[in-house]
Amino acid sequence: MAAAADLAEIDRRYSFHPFTALADHERDGPSMVITGGKGSTLTDASGRDYIDAMAGLWCVNVGYGRTELADAMRDQAAQLSYCHAFSSMSSDKPALLAEKLIGMAPVPMSKVFFGNSGSDANDTQVKLVWYYNNARGKPGKKKIIARQRGYHGVTVMSGGMTGLPGLHAGFDLPLPFVKHVMAPRKLWEGHGLSDAEFVAKLVDDLEQTIAREGADTIGAMIAEPLMGAGGVLAPPPGYYPAIQAVLRRHDILLIADEVICGFGRLGDMFGTTTMGMEPDLITVAKGLTSAYFPLSACIVSEKVWRVIADEGSKAYGAFGHGYTYSSHPVGAAAALANLQLIEEEQMLGKVRSTGAHLQAKLREAFADHPLVGEVRGQALIGAVEFVKSKDGGPVGFDPALKVAPRIVKGALARGVIGRALPNADSVAFSPPFIITEAEVEKAVGAF
Ligand code: PLP
Repeated sequence: MAAAADLAEIDRRYSFHPFTALADHERDGPSMVITGGKGSTLTDASGRDYIDAMAGLWCVNVGYGRTELADAMRDQAAQLSYCHAFSSMSSDKPALLAEKLIGMAPVPMSKVFFGNSGSDANDTQVKLVWYYNNARGKPGKKKIIARQRGYHGVTVMSGGMTGLPGLHAGFDLPLPFVKHVMAPRKLWEGHGLSDAEFVAKLVDDLEQTIAREGADTIGAMIAEPLMGAGGVLAPPPGYYPAIQAVLRRHDILLIADEVICGFGRLGDMFGTTTMGMEPDLITVAKGLTSAYFPLSACIVSEKVWRVIADEGSKAYGAFGHGYTYSSHPVGAAAALANLQLIEEEQMLGKVRSTGAHLQAKLREAFADHPLVGEVRGQALIGAVEFVKSKDGGPVGFDPALKVAPRIVKGALARGVIGRALPNADSVAFSPPFIITEAEVEKAVGAF
């Protein structure tokens, strides 16, 4: 293999990267070139090890280098490397995976549709909402309610639903038919309020948005059980039951974006369970295969399914949507092996116990620091938010400060990978489920 410096130069010269300062990358090249991974550790081209305290991008839940997954994928590729799912064609592993997902879904669900990424699955969800409402004679219900600071992906539609201004800049986003409501961020939007008062404020914001736009123009609301990239924001207790009562009253569907929370990150198999959600549609990706293969799924309730299958078929004929890689057999084999590992190794228990340790260590290390506004999270997901002073404002995009990116750079120099969130005011932690307590301590120590 080429030497580390050569690889970095090749990368610098020929590629550009997501969520990267393009001119800096073209000038300086990549921050590191990774060539291996095992457990919670990544190794770069010069042989240096790093603890990956982010499990990639909140996704390598069972850890790197699991031969169980590699074997399942190799066997599947040798047996049947590809089979499309158009025109009713089917293959064994996706069928079995769909059965498995319906069996384990956190609320009663009927059907599964596979995609490739969280972004395209959320696009599919919006098309399902539109198809559903068109088929049942409510074509006016088109708008989507999303939340400020929510992250739902970067395709035109999912990027439009994402509520982070830094991800809209230069891309003609957000979209006029996506309406963003207030984020459940206690530190700022809920400052000085009790949980019940904060829930009331968030519900009022939703009610006002619906009143302003008209319920007959709104198809669905999308929400992460716990917001990830927007700052690791858990809603106040009672939030979802109160929000759902409003949505139901106005005949608005709820899409749970479980792309980060799904398959154990919060200590339950789904964040829907942890947060008391009752969604009509569920999006999963990342943890479905622990990122061994790009695979996502839309899990659809009977309520939506019956309309799109019966009325939709009558009105529009065949369902005109799907991807070349929908129901990919190698992805499905990876997912089946991944879910088996999570169950056999009782990883939810690990998430809860190691998660409690992570939360305690983060609070111990950071909570009293004068520039820390809040340490938050639960189980194996956490964030530290920086402020100008305990009673000052948020750091946010302040270019003079860039606190979170600087801290992440410093930790990297000490052999730990974390993540500065896109709004640059928080550092996130979301390690693999198999991280040890000693590794957690090393990671927090580096930060
Ligand atoms: N939804 C959530 C909650 C996410 O965190 C992400 C990615 O971070 C996505 C959707 C988009 O997934 P992908 O990057 O696979 O398109």
